[in-house]
Formats: sequence, structure tokens, C-alpha cells
Amino acid sequence: MIAPHGKPERVAGVYLAFSAVWILGSDWLLEAMVGDRSTGAALQTVKGLVFVSATALLIYWMARRELRRLERHHLWLRKVFDDAPVLIAYVTPELRYRFTNEGYARLYGRGGESLDGLQFTEVVGAANAERVAPVLRRALAGEEIAFEGEIVDSDGQPHWLHANYVLDLDERGRAEGVLIVIVDLTERRAAEAEIAYRANYDALTGLANRNLLLERLTAALAGRTNGHVALLFVDLDEFKQMNDTLGHVTGDRLLKNVAQRLAGCVHEGDTVARLSSDIFILLLSHIEQPSDAGIVAAKATAAIAEPFHIDELEVRMTASVGIALAPQDGEAAEALFACADLALSQAKQSGRGSHVFFAPVMHRAAHERRLLKDEMHRALQRGEFRVHYQPVVEMDSGRVSGAEVLVRWQHPQRGLVPPGLFIPLAEQSGIIRELGAWVFEEACRQLAVWQAAGHRWRLAVNVSSGQLPQPMSPQWLKTVLQAHGLAADALTLEITESALLGDTEATLAWIMSIREMGFHIALDDFGTGYSSLTYLKRFPFHVVKVDQSFVRDMVDDHADRTLVDTILAMARSLGLNVVAEGVETEEQLGLLRDMGCHHAQGYFFARPAPADEFPGWVARIEQRMPE
Ligand code: C2E
Ligand code: CA
Ligand code: CA
Repeated sequence: MIAPHGKPERVAGVYLAFSAVWILGSDWLLEAMVGDRSTGAALQTVKGLVFVSATALLIYWMARRELRRLERHHLWLRKVFDDAPVLIAYVTPELRYRFTNEGYARLYGRGGESLDGLQFTEVVGAANAERVAPVLRRALAGEEIAFEGEIVDSDGQPHWLHANYVLDLDERGRAEGVLIVIVDLTERRAAEAEIAYRANYDALTGLANRNLLLERLTAALAGRTNGHVALLFVDLDEFKQMNDTLGHVTGDRLLKNVAQRLAGCVHEGDTVARLSSDIFILLLSHIEQPSDAGIVAAKATAAIAEPFHIDELEVRMTASVGIALAPQDGEAAEALFACADLALSQAKQSGRGSHVFFAPVMHRAAHERRLLKDEMHRALQRGEFRVHYQPVVEMDSGRVSGAEVLVRWQHPQRGLVPPGLFIPLAEQSGIIRELGAWVFEEACRQLAVWQAAGHRWRLAVNVSSGQLPQPMSPQWLKTVLQAHGLAADALTLEITESALLGDTEATLAWIMSIREMGFHIALDDFGTGYSSLTYLKRFPFHVVKVDQSFVRDMVDDHADRTLVDTILAMARSLGLNVVAEGVETEEQLGLLRDMGCHHAQGYFFARPAPADEFPGWVARIEQRMPE
């Protein structure tokens, strides 16, 4: 470390001087004592001088060679140290540098400079020295010690360093200095932290992931003495379709916004996690009473219902929440997960933006759903499905203009299963493709029979998004119509708003081509979807069906009444026909009529009934309708 020094010529000179003095001196002494100095003796002296001169030359030459070798070695060592992936410094007991490698100098912003002779504190700065100098002094005092900690480099960047000290002693065992060997662990620690982070956090939103959630849930369950632990599954309604429509970049930004809002709904100590693309989980690690979970759920759904602003876009969303509680619903993490999931399915069925607490019957219901799903294939083959017809009444004339076609399942053991139970399952499993095709053919068959009997009823058939654009392609529809000798304009196809959310372009193309063929198109369940109004303008519908929920509530709820009024006004301006669904009372009918609604459908007139009962219902309705 320390540069080799020494002067070969001095070594050789000293030797030569001593030897000459010795030879000449002993020569002079001899002469003084003996008084005789022979020529032989003088010759001896000259010989001696020549010999020591030659020896001195040899010594000089050898010493110089050794010194060169040491110098080369020193340069080589220096290069090794400079290239080493560690930082190296040699510091004297006075805390001055005697040697530093390039890495060390660079850390303190002195790359390419020599720090030799400089004071330690001057180089590392007062703040770093305050922490490191005491350790260095203890190392110089002979203590075996290492330092691991943070220091700040000349740019103010923190580095995590691990330093080892090797004491250098002189012959008498006194400290000559200390060699400091430092490993910079900053990058490794950052990588380790990143790995640990990824193992526990969701990369997109920064929320806890399933791993961390499970850990915290398990801890909360283990630590619970009184009160409850609550698990809330929060699912964004129809997020997948929205993601497809808006694009994934916007979708991701939406998710981040949702994460922030949800984080604002819980207390410190609670956890917000993201489980899959659009399922978030709130873990309330301690609540006094079950209803507290309901309050948080309501807060969460309200937070998400507030419009989101992504660039110039305003996006509206709703979320459904399923709630499970410990200890009543289970005391193990997996059990609570399953319960919250079941409660969530229930919440999704109960309509957007609702929250549902788990109840033991849901286990049974889930089991039932699985059974039904399995049985549906067989039911199709065995012909267990039926079609019922519900009259649609023209308000002005009081005449029945046609019917909505509604499927039923005549189950051998369960009796008549309503579509609300099996249509969602058929949509999930894909059987809706076959089932929907069967309903359409059945409706066409019946319509042909009625047309032959002179009736001019229009039939409306429900179409799920899973049937678009296949198998309900324009070609297929044409083939079926031809088989029954029907024109397309005797039929309406009803599509829900959510069906439009998927591949909008493909759906739009499908709508255009079947419209071209002559089918009427109805927008079903209007008002329950999001950004409904834009759809009305964008897609060329003939009919809007106002959802039953508005009709049900409009008698008491002023806001709902205003909404129906607005829909009607808008429909008029766009030249659309409006059908009010779920009319059950005379009062509702009166209100709708005053608002100028064109058509109505509901139990007030007739429930859906088999085809053979339909003509009877028509006769009754047309007789009863007040002028
Ligand atoms: P939807 O298209 O909104 O059908 C109207 C539903 O409201 C029918 O329920 C009907 O029976 C019911 N309803 C009619 N009037 C009243 C009333 O005054 N009060 C009340 N509370 N309800 C009334 P349904 O038959 O149980 O059908 C439920 C849903 O199942 C339908 O809702 C539709 O989305 C779906 N669905 C039915 N048949 C088919 C089908 O063949 N294909 C597809 N894809 N979906 C179908
Ligand atoms: Ca419908
Ligand atoms: Ca409807």
C-alpha cells in the first residue's frame, strides 16, 4: 500500500565508504605500529579498494533492481485495488489517508484524485465522520469491529455500506494504521427490498396483495379477543367490459384511483388489498359490531360511485360488496374468503352498488347453482325448457301490440325454475348460445302459427351478449326466418346495456346489419347501466325499455319520476318508442300515461304465460283497458 522507498546509490555509497575507511584505516594503523610499509602491503591496499568498489557496484545494481521490482509490484497492486469491486482506504492513527483506491475516492466525489495525506473528516464530511470516526478509532485501538450503515455521498445520495477494518501493526506492535475494506450494499439492498415488496404488494396499485392480506388476516384472527374481524370483497361492476371499451391504459388508471379511494375508507391498521384485476379486499382487523362493516361497505360503494375523471373523460362506476365476519362466519382465513366470495356473488345479483353480509344459506345456494349448471345441458336435450309470453300493451289504444318472449325451465324435480336463476349461469357457462338459439327458433315457430291465425303480434326476444355476434349472426337469423316464412320486422331483439359494453365495434356492426334486415332493436333494462345516454345516441335503437326499478319506485320517489320523465322526453326527441316494464298498479299506469309513455308491460295486465293462454289474455286486456 505504501509506496516503496530507499536509494540504492546511498546503500552502495555507505558500504563503499565504510569499506574504504576500514582498508585505508587498517593500512595506516599497521604503518604507525610497525613503522614499515612494504610495496607488497601497498598493493594489498589497492587490491582491497578495487574489490570493495566492485562489490559496492554490485550491491547498487542489485538494490536498484529490487526497487524497480517493488515499484512495478506496487503499480500492479494499485491497479488491482482500483479495479476491485470494493472501496479501500488506509488511514493512519491521526486519521489521515495514506492510500485510497479509486472507488473510495469516487464515493466522496474525488475520482481521479489522490487523497494521500488528507484528513479523514475533510474528505467524508462532518455528518458521515460523526458516525464512522468513532468506529475507526476503536479499530485503531485494536478492537475487532465492523461498521454497517448508511452514509451519504458527495451528491447527497444515501449508500448502505459494510466496512471491515484490518489493523496494521509495526514491529513493536503499535498501530501504524488501519486498512478499511468497504462493500457498497446499496444496490443489493434495493433489489432485496424490491423482491420483498413484490412478494407482498400489488405492482399496479401499491396495495397489499393476496400474500400480505392472508398474513394480516391470519394475524388478525389469531389476535382477536373480543369484537369482530371483517373481510369485505369489493368488486367493480362490469369492469372487464369497461376496460375493453376504454382501453387498458385508462383501465389501469381507473384501478389506481379506485385503490386510493378505498384506502381512504378504512382506519389505520386495516388493510386494503387487490386480489385480481377488479376485486379489492378490505380487511377490518377489529370492529366492535357487525354493523360497522356495513358502514365501511356503504362508504366504499359511495366512494366508487363518485365520478372518476381520467383526462377529459368522466367515468362512472359502481361496486358490489360481499362481507364475511369472524367469528360468526368462520375463524379460519380460507373459510372467511369463501364466505365473503359467496356474499359478493349475492351482492352482484342484488343489483349494482349493493353490499351483502354472508348468510349460511348462501352455501346451499352456491351448491344449487353448481347443480343447475351441470343439469342445464341435459335439460336442453330433454326439452325441459319452455317459452312464456307476456303481453305488451299500447297505451293509447289499449290494444296488445305483441309480447316479450321469456324462457322458463320446467325442471322434473324443482318445478318451474325462473330465468333469473339460470340465465346468469347459462351466460357464465356458455350454454346461453344453444339455449338462446332454441328460444329464438321457438318464438319464430309460435309467431308463424299466430300469423297464420291472422294475428299481427310483434314478438320481442331477449339476447345476451354471449350470443353476439355468434351464433346469432345475420345469416343464421335469416335461415331461421326463412324456415318459418317470417319477415324480420315482426320481431324485436332486446339487448341490455351491459351487452354493449364489450366489443363495442363488433356489437355496433351486428346491430347495423340486423337492423338492415328489418329487425327492431330494443335497449333493455334502460337506466341500470352506465353512461346510458351516450348509448341511446350512438346505437340506432327503435325501442327503449325503462327498467322495472324506476317504474316501481316512481310513485313515491320524486327523483325516479323525474328520471322516467327525462327518458321519455329524450326518447321522443330521438324518435324512439318507449316501453315501461313492470307496471303493477293503476297508479303507475296513470302516471306513465300522463307522461306520454307509448307502451307498457307488467303484472297489471298479465303475467308471462304459455302460448296457448296468450290469446285469452289479449282478449281480457283489450276489454278491460279504460279509454
Ligand atoms: P327482462 O328482460 O327484464 O324481463 C322482464 C322480467 O320482468 C321478466 O322476468 C318478467 O316476468 C318480469 N316482470 C314482468 N312484469 C312484471 C311486473 O309487473 N312486476 C315484476 N316484479 N316483474 C315483472 P323473468 O321472466 O323472470 O325474466 C328475468 C330475466 O331473465 C329477463 O329480464 C331477461 O333478462 C332474462 N331472460 C328471460 N328469458 C330470456 C331469454 O330467452 N334469453 C335471454 N338471454 N334472457 C332471458
Ligand atoms: Ca327483456
Ligand atoms: Ca328488462
